[in-house]
Amino acid sequence: MNISILGAGAMGSLFGGLLAESGQQVTLLDINDAHLEAIRRQGLRLETDSGDRRIGGLTACRPEQVTGQPDLLLVFTKAQHTDHALRGIAGHIGEHSLVLTLQNGLGNAEALCRHVAPERVMIGMTTWPADMAGPGHVRSHGQGVVRLMSLDAVERQGSNQVAAVLEAAGLQCAVDPQVWTSIWEKVAFNAALNSLCAVTGCTVGQLDAAPEGVALARAIVLEVLSVAQSVGVATDAQRCLDSVAYAIAHHRTHKPSMLQDVLAGRPTEIGAINGEVLARARQAGIAVPHTETLLGLLRLIEAWAATGGGHE
Ligand code: NAD
Repeated sequence: MNISILGAGAMGSLFGGLLAESGQQVTLLDINDAHLEAIRRQGLRLETDSGDRRIGGLTACRPEQVTGQPDLLLVFTKAQHTDHALRGIAGHIGEHSLVLTLQNGLGNAEALCRHVAPERVMIGMTTWPADMAGPGHVRSHGQGVVRLMSLDAVERQGSNQVAAVLEAAGLQCAVDPQVWTSIWEKVAFNAALNSLCAVTGCTVGQLDAAPEGVALARAIVLEVLSVAQSVGVATDAQRCLDSVAYAIAHHRTHKPSMLQDVLAGRPTEIGAINGEVLARARQAGIAVPHTETLLGLLRLIEAWAATGGGHE
């Protein structure tokens, strides 16, 4: 398959690297020139449980330099950058190109549909983790899975083919007609842990420094899942609460990317997570006070950072 990755940061590079290693033709599209240049010079350095190696054979360029049209476009920008990024490669998306989002949050499918016919859009969720270790260098330890389906839920050759290609790259991928359940449960997990860590500066494990931290996380999970139910998505609250408790107990030093973004003074994905949940809650007439308060606090932190973040 001829595959382009739009947004070749931590996740895009992990997926692009593994796909290239499995024999696919991969183009990484990003605006981070230092990262692109390092990949062009020395290949992509990928550290996973399978080893620390350099992967060659990847094309790495800025969106405006890309030519041709891919069989598959995998979108891995942060959610707030999707629209801008897709506008930047309008001519690259062909009439046959399938477009897949595995980004966190809600509203990603709608963003893709503003640029691509809905029958070519695929949605999904991944539990693979990845971090940027430096230009041209990505780390991913542990295991994950990918679940995907076509947006209109019509079983198509395309989604099976894409799942098979990701599976062959070792990404443990399957087509899953219940993928909205996985997406909403991950949104609940992220709304709870990412926003709490981003506001407090705590790592995931430090959220149990006070019982209120854990209670807040649980309250947010239950709020989000009540909104999921209102839009007809069945979820498993106990499974979700258990995964939050597991993360607090076992991923103690983990800094969610939303906290990393706050620490770096960058905009966060809060709009795609708490913001999209609140919008759907309002439509359904459901109160989500904890989710809404965390959204407000993050908006304030972002606005303050945008002014330079100094003290008078
Ligand atoms: P990242 O910030 O490492 O990568 C995003 C990349 O997009 C950056 O390299 C950035 O330069 C690029 N970009 C921004 N604007 C662009 C544009 N206009 N054109 C092209 N590229 C552009 O983020 P990430 O951690 O890889 O996360 C990507 C998505 O995957 C997010 O939605 C995130 O929530 C989700 N996700 C992340 C993880 C993880 O462990 N990192 C796990 C699961 C899902």
